[in-house]
Amino acid sequence: MPAEHEQRTWGLWIDGGWRPAASGRTFAVENPKDASVLAEVAEGGATDIDAAVAAAQRAFDGWSETPPEARARVMAKAAEILRGRMDEFVRIEVDQTGRARRELAAQLGRLPEWYEYFGALARTHEDTVPPFNGPFLNYTRRVPLGVVGHVTPWNHPLLILTKKVAPSLAAGNSMVVKPSELAPLTPLLLGEVLRDAGLPDGVYNVVPGFGADAGAALTRHQGIRKIDLTGGTETGKTVASLAGRNLTRFAGELGGKAAMVAFPGVAPQAVVNAALFASFVATGQTCVQGSRLIVHRSIHDAVVEELVTRTRTLRLGDPQDLRTQVGPLVSERQRAIVEKYVRIGQEEGATLAVGGRRPEGAAYERGYWYLPTVFTGVRNDMRIAQEEIFGPVVCVMPFDDEEEAIALANGTEFGLAASVWTEDVRQAHRVAHRMQAGIVWINDHHRIDPASPWGGFKMSGIGRENGIAAYHEYTQIQNVIVNLSSAPFDWFADDGAMKRYS
Ligand code: NAD
Repeated sequence: MPAEHEQRTWGLWIDGGWRPAASGRTFAVENPKDASVLAEVAEGGATDIDAAVAAAQRAFDGWSETPPEARARVMAKAAEILRGRMDEFVRIEVDQTGRARRELAAQLGRLPEWYEYFGALARTHEDTVPPFNGPFLNYTRRVPLGVVGHVTPWNHPLLILTKKVAPSLAAGNSMVVKPSELAPLTPLLLGEVLRDAGLPDGVYNVVPGFGADAGAALTRHQGIRKIDLTGGTETGKTVASLAGRNLTRFAGELGGKAAMVAFPGVAPQAVVNAALFASFVATGQTCVQGSRLIVHRSIHDAVVEELVTRTRTLRLGDPQDLRTQVGPLVSERQRAIVEKYVRIGQEEGATLAVGGRRPEGAAYERGYWYLPTVFTGVRNDMRIAQEEIFGPVVCVMPFDDEEEAIALANGTEFGLAASVWTEDVRQAHRVAHRMQAGIVWINDHHRIDPASPWGGFKMSGIGRENGIAAYHEYTQIQNVIVNLSSAPFDWFADDGAMKRYS
C-alpha cells in the first residue's frame, strides 16, 4: 500500500493507526514555494481530542510501568528507523515549510540523537536518597505525569516536537499532539516510526487541526496533566490561562528578539558570516533569529557594507535544491506580517539598506517569497526592534561601550537567546552573564543539542526543553519514607512530648 502521504489524504494518528476526523472534514496543507496543495489532512476537533486522550489514558499504565531499559530500547529502535526513513522525512519537511533542504537535512539528521539521549537518561536516572536523621530511609521517585499534550508550531515541525516527545516517552508518559495546521505531516508520519519501533498503541497520538478548535480542546481537557506549547507569546498567554483553570502544568517556548552583540576586535567578515546565518536561516522564521545586530561603532560601517553586499548574493530558489540558501516564507499571512513591519520600519525612520520587497521572476510569482532585508540606523525603541517579525529582516544598531551594548540587548520584553562576539575571554563571560536570556552563545549562534537546556527568560517562556531539566519536567516527585525502627509506634506514649513530627 502506498504511504499515506503519497495518497495526498492524511488521517489523524490515534491508538497506533490512521483514522478520519469524526466530522469527516479535511483541510489543505500548502507547499509555500508555489501555493500548491501538498496534502489534505483530517481536521480534528474536540471529539477527536477526546478519543485521543482516551487512547493515551488506556496506554498510560502499561507504558509507565514498562521498565526504563525497555523504554530505552523502543527509543533506540525509533532512532534507527528514523535514520532509515530520513530522506522521506526531509523531503516532506521541506515541502510543508518551504525551508531549504540543506538546513532541514542537517537539522533532521540529528533528531535520532534525542531518542538515544533521553532513552539513556531514563536508564541511568536513579532515584535520589537524601540524608535523613534517625532510623529512616528516605527516598524520592520520579514518576510520569500521565497524559501530556504537545502543541507545536510550523517553523521546525519535527525538531520542536522531538524535543517534547523524547523526554515524555523516556519518563513514561503517553501523549496527544496538536501540530501546527500549516505543517502537520511529519508529526503524523512519526506515528509510523514509533509504532514500528514497538511503542504500544495509544502512547503517541496526533490530532491535526486548528488552534482555536483542536488546540483549545486539548488545552482545556481535564485528562491532560501538562500542556507544552511552542508558539507565539500571545498564544502562550491564552493556552496558559486555559490550562490554569484545571491546574494543568504549563510549559511555553515562546517568542524572541535575539541580539547578536559584536565587540571591537572581531573581524567584520566573521560577524557577517554569523549574521547571515543567524538572521536568514529558515528565512528568518526562528525564535532565536538574530533579529538585532548590535555592532560596535568601530566596525559598524564595515559590517554593514559587507552584510548588504552578501545579503544580495544569497541564493533563493527551489527549497528542495541543495544549493538553495533561502526559501519562501511559510504562508501569505506570514509574508503580510513581514511586509507590514518593513513599512513600519520605513515610517519609523530606519534605513532600508537591502531587500524590503518580493523577488522578481516567474519562479517567485506564486508562493510566499520575500527578499532578505537589512535595516540600518535602527533605534531600539522602534517597533521593528521591539516586536517579533518572524521573517528575514535584521535591524542593525551601533553601540559605543559595553554597558550600552548590554542595555540594548536586554532592552526588550523577550529573553530567549543572545550571542556575544568577542576575542576577549573575560568580556565574553562577563557580558554573557548579564544577558537576560535563557540561551547565550559566545562566538556562535543557534547551536542546539539534546543535552543543552533550551528556554526563555521574561516573555519568551516558562520551562526548559532538552537536558536533564526536560526529563525532570515530564516527571513528578514521589517521596517515600520508610521507618526502619522496630520500636513500638509511640504516638500514645504518655510522656508529654509529641515526637511524631520531630
Ligand atoms: P502560534 O502561536 O500561531 O501557534 C503555535 C501552535 O499553537 C499551533 O499549533 C497553533 O494551532 C496553536 N494554537 C494557536 N492558538 C491556540 C489556542 N487558542 N489554543 C491552543 N492552541 C493554539 O505560533 P506559530 O506561528 O505556529 O509559530 C511561530 C511562533 O512560535 C513564534 O512566536 C516563535 O518565536 C515561536 N517559537 C518559539 C520557539 C522557542 O523555542 N521558544 C521555537 C519555535 C517557535
